[in-house]
Amino acid sequence: MRTITAKLTRIYLVVAVSVLFCAGLIAQLYFYRHVRSIAHNNLNTQAVALAGNLEATVAFGDVAFAQQTLKALQHYPDVRMAAVVMADGKFFAKYSPDTSADIESLRQFLMQGEFITANTHGVVQNVISPGQAPARLIIVASLEEINREMAMTIGASVAIGSLILLVAFIMFRRMSLSVTRPIEVLTAVMRKVERDGDHSQRARIFSDDEIGELAKGFNAMLSALERQNVNLNTELIERKRIQKKLDRLAHYDTVTHLPNRHYFQERLKVTVEHSNQLDKLMAVIFVDLDNFKLVNDSYGHHIGDQLLQTAAKRLSDSLRSGDVVCRLGGDEFAIILEHLPDSQQIESLIDKLIHNLTQPLRLDDHDVVVTGSVGVAVCPEDADTPESLLRFADAAMYAAKGAGKNTWRRFDPEMASQSALRLTLENQLRVALAEGQFEVHYQPQIDLSTNEVDGLEALARWNHPDRGYISPLQFIPVAEESGLIRPLGEWVLRTACRQIVAWSLAGHDRLKVAVNVSVRQLVHPNFFEMVLAVLAETGCAARQLDLEITESILMQHGEKTIAILQQLRDRGIGIVIDDFGTGYSSMAQLKNMPVTKLKIDKSFVDDITTSRRDLAITASITSLAHNLQIQIIAEGVETNQQVLLLRQSGCHDFQGYHFARPLPAAQIPSFIDGFQRKKVRSNLKTDGNRAPAEWEDWRPPLDRKAGH
Ligand code: C2E
Ligand code: CA
Ligand code: CA
Repeated sequence: MRTITAKLTRIYLVVAVSVLFCAGLIAQLYFYRHVRSIAHNNLNTQAVALAGNLEATVAFGDVAFAQQTLKALQHYPDVRMAAVVMADGKFFAKYSPDTSADIESLRQFLMQGEFITANTHGVVQNVISPGQAPARLIIVASLEEINREMAMTIGASVAIGSLILLVAFIMFRRMSLSVTRPIEVLTAVMRKVERDGDHSQRARIFSDDEIGELAKGFNAMLSALERQNVNLNTELIERKRIQKKLDRLAHYDTVTHLPNRHYFQERLKVTVEHSNQLDKLMAVIFVDLDNFKLVNDSYGHHIGDQLLQTAAKRLSDSLRSGDVVCRLGGDEFAIILEHLPDSQQIESLIDKLIHNLTQPLRLDDHDVVVTGSVGVAVCPEDADTPESLLRFADAAMYAAKGAGKNTWRRFDPEMASQSALRLTLENQLRVALAEGQFEVHYQPQIDLSTNEVDGLEALARWNHPDRGYISPLQFIPVAEESGLIRPLGEWVLRTACRQIVAWSLAGHDRLKVAVNVSVRQLVHPNFFEMVLAVLAETGCAARQLDLEITESILMQHGEKTIAILQQLRDRGIGIVIDDFGTGYSSMAQLKNMPVTKLKIDKSFVDDITTSRRDLAITASITSLAHNLQIQIIAEGVETNQQVLLLRQSGCHDFQGYHFARPLPAAQIPSFIDGFQRKKVRSNLKTDGNRAPAEWEDWRPPLDRKAGH
């Protein structure tokens, strides 16, 4: 690149040299011509003077004097030769400082008068003598001396001119700095900005001319750029922050701060790909909290969120580093276990996970138990695509729920059809409710201290048009999860109340009906009003109705639930704790609850014949219940031995296949009549505390239609 200084120097040189050269040349030429013309004029003057002097010599033919006169020319070193030529062409006198000179050649100039060439010049002058044809004086002089001097002058002029040029050049360079320096500085700043991208640089302002203006403009531009950069940077930072936030929102759950479903799916895809490529085991674990909806409904979202956060933390803490736990939504969590050495490791990991999850928890003064149902699918053993792994882990989780919750199941192919069934079940349940496919069957409860059928448990039955009777064990959990349990439960209550009124009118006015209440019904704000409305609508007396609530639910839903139960109790409705013995409630707690009856769970009844401990516990429960004036009933009684042992423990009220299976309403009157007849017959043999021997053989007719 050519610098501005170089350019200016060139301009200077071109202009100065050409000006100096032209001016010098013109001056020298002029001078040269002038000098030559002076020399020529001088020669002319000499010729005229000499011609005057020669006139007499020619007139007298005095050659010697003429020769003498011509010799005077020796004082003029430029004169090369001179001669006086007579009219007839003969030389009268000659002169030349140089003997070798060709004087004869002078004849050629006779006709010319005068001449001037580059190196010589000459003049011809008439020498007049009276009465004679004029002779001619010819003088030829050299111009070489003048030329030489001229050349020297030119040389000196060139030298002086060059010197002037040099001095002027130095001065020019000095002076041009005031123009080039600011431009160079400006350029340097510009280069630095360009190289470092640093817009905080500023150019120095040297002057207030155009360059100064340029520097000012440049600085202003940099300031503007700097401001723009700052704005751009803040905007960029803000944009990054928003992007990060959006990314978090898109990939993370705001309640638990765990990655969400979106993230999970992306991650699962990658992990499954790796597992397939590297032939390594990986697993998907599905965790569904068992009682979350309950906690949420009864204590509010605030506690619900806390529960989710605790569960999230406990799950995370149970995992190895590198495993990922995500919240898929609601109370569903999913875990990706990468690089499993073998599928056995899953077992210990999940045991630890469930153990950690179920540790007692206190949230805002409420004791809450978190349990989870866990399903596992292993890649590539169970499936090798993200979709099927997820589906299978989900199916396994439902199998765990079906197996009584708070446990885990590994996927097996049979579960796939079960989970599909569950989905169709939910859809079909809605149709069933709308189309009246439900029935209520009644299982008699027998009080052996009075030998009477004193109550009936109302149990929902789904008479599916294609599949026949579907067990409540299958459809109640689905109804609970989908929320359909509320309309269904209300329908069972209404049907049972209406039925008990019908039986009362038919003479069985001491019968009570026990209706199961799901916790989702219980925690609903209008439950109390609903029950009263059904009683009013059907005309059923409050004392004829028992509501069965499972023990575990009662224990978990503290004061609010108890308050509602108290209100119901105050109206005369009986409150039964169902599945008693499985929910770890203490008798001390029972004292503060509006409970009228405990229903000893079938698992206790089953074990009572084999476990002395269970027998002892049953006995103490029974005696305590008597003290608290709470009735006791045993459910799931299937053998006479169970009846005997339960009676020894102080329990006289029974429900179970040993006496009767749940029966359609139409069969209840005849069952009661049959029971009465048996009672009359066996009364004679009963000692009050013992069951009639006949019970051992006695079996009610099987209700085949009910599918038992
Ligand atoms: P549950 O309340 O514990 O009902 C007793 C269950 O034990 C009934 O099963 C009954 O048929 C069965 N059972 C009675 N005696 C015996 C026996 O001697 N041996 C055996 N192995 N089983 C006996 P079911 O009818 O299948 O009902 C199952 C569960 O479904 C019920 O357990 C109850 O929790 C729920 N359920 C049924 N109907 C309703 C309802 O209308 N509303 C609600 N919320 N839950 C209901
Ligand atoms: Ca029950
Ligand atoms: Ca029960």
